[in-house]
Amino acid sequence: MVNAVHQQYDAIVLGGGLVGASCALALSKAGYAVALLESHYKPADSSAGTDETTWDSRIYAITPSNQAWLDRLGVWQKLNPERICDIARMQVCGDAQDSQLVFNADDAHIRSLGAIVESGELQQSLWHELLDSDVTLVTETEAVARIAGKQSTQLTMSDGAVLEAALVVGADGANSWLRAQAGIPLSTHDYGQMGVVANFETTLPHHHTAWQWFKRDDGILAWLPMPGNRMSMVWSAPDRIARGLLELNADALSEKVAEAGGYILGDLRNITAARAFPLVQRTAQHLVKPGMVLVGDAAHTVHPLAGQGVNLGFRDVQALLDVLMQGKKRQHIGDYRLLRAYERARKTDIVAMQTLTRGLAELFGMEHSMMKKLRNWGLGFTDRQHMLKKFLMHQAIR
Ligand SMILES: Cc1cc2nc3c(=O)[nH]c(=O)nc-3n(C[C@H](O)[C@H](O)[C@H](O)COP(=O)(O)OP(=O)(O)OC[C@H]3O[C@@H](n4cnc5c(N)ncnc54)[C@H](O)[C@@H]3O)c2cc1C
Repeated sequence: MVNAVHQQYDAIVLGGGLVGASCALALSKAGYAVALLESHYKPADSSAGTDETTWDSRIYAITPSNQAWLDRLGVWQKLNPERICDIARMQVCGDAQDSQLVFNADDAHIRSLGAIVESGELQQSLWHELLDSDVTLVTETEAVARIAGKQSTQLTMSDGAVLEAALVVGADGANSWLRAQAGIPLSTHDYGQMGVVANFETTLPHHHTAWQWFKRDDGILAWLPMPGNRMSMVWSAPDRIARGLLELNADALSEKVAEAGGYILGDLRNITAARAFPLVQRTAQHLVKPGMVLVGDAAHTVHPLAGQGVNLGFRDVQALLDVLMQGKKRQHIGDYRLLRAYERARKTDIVAMQTLTRGLAELFGMEHSMMKKLRNWGLGFTDRQHMLKKFLMHQAIR
């Protein structure tokens, strides 16, 4: 959209996925001059349904705190309420009979544990708000070189234009170009699993319940409630099983998934083709460099079992805005000391979420009978501790 030869901004956000788009919007609303670079900008091409019959197989469970933040950005309230489904109850099942942990929003005196929304719907709402904002969208070109100076960074684009800013935000996803360009090392852990996602119609109502089954050999199966008698599946399955699921036709997949969930929602009818994503935990060794910061999947990826990936990314952006606001009068936006404060502020949340998700995925993958007893006892024990459950619920809805 922009064809300028040399443009200067306070901040350039690289990547307009959910995290980058929200970051550009938040920075602009805070008074900064912002450019957003997105190489796959398709505002009219939503993979999400624009009619009642089409549904996006990529869905997110957005925490109440992040909903409130997106609301303040002017994004959440523009979503079609008929495409959102609150989670009122969550049931986690172990791999022994009757070992389960149930969370009820009512017990913690909260309206919901989160809300399910399709990825495409949220992305469209963000783009609409961006088009109404002062953010400059740069879309038909991509960054090919970066020169970091003392006070600013220059990005040279594939069409020859040069964009310059005091701060460059890397929100360009798990395989971040900016992270690699800046030479930031990455540690990775491959789960040897794929997240298989697909949507289904159900013959029984879900009553706003999310289910999760930890199955030792078959991975972790989650059913998330969608509007009406529909649910979205995220099956984090070992590669071999995931490939088998992808080969099934719609009827066979419906039967396989219904059986895996004990027919708890009756019979299923597959309504979106199954897709799969390799599951890898990634951690950038540094989140900042002078004049540069990483947010979202560019900074970290986690196992989807806690439904926290994009939520972590939204919390990155909020933390970044907090430190920038605190230093606004004294320090310039790319000041390394200021950005280090962002890195420190995010460390605990990121490490805790990576440790929790990896720990749970590995605990329920262990074969030893003692481990099986212990993990299932743990679920039952936690289920009986009302204060602990309340604490866990309040942690989960941040
Ligand atoms: C199976 C599965 C289920 C999941 N379920 C959940 C869930 O329920 N809840 C949850 O919170 N999270 C979930 N996640 C995680 C979530 O999908 C990610 O954390 C989230 O999408 C990351 O958003 P992002 O904006 O950081 O990155 P991305 O969505 O990857 O966006 C990056 C953007 O940058 C653009 N880009 C890349 N390179 C460049 C470049 N050089 N120049 C310009 N633009 C560029 C890309 O086109 C893209 O638009 C799940 C993940 C998986 C795999």
